[in-house]
Amino acid sequence: MRKKEWSLVATFEESASMLEVVREKTGTVRQKRTVETKTGVSVYYLCKHARKFSCPYQMHHFKPEVAGGRFELYEDGTHCCDTAEYKSGLTRKQREAADLAMKM
Ligand SMILES: [Zn+2]
Repeated sequence: MRKKEWSLVATFEESASMLEVVREKTGTVRQKRTVETKTGVSVYYLCKHARKFSCPYQMHHFKPEVAGGRFELYEDGTHCCDTAEYKSGLTRKQREAADLAMKM
């Protein structure tokens, strides 16, 4: 499995505005898992197409267990679902042409 390379997207003071960004980027707010540690809470999010198209895009937020701690939002990977979704909307012939174009 590929090593995760989380890159910081932004930090937020409250969860509402952070979740707005998560929703915008993943298409949903689907929590994959929550991990609680001594230092804070991590929540992981998947792309809404994660299952259908095996989209590897993920987000992750960390909320430190300190007063006034800001939410840190990270992302990893790039969407592959955009292309897959687009292709599934094409006719078979168009799709074959698109596949061919990608190979060239
Ligand atoms: Zn995706």
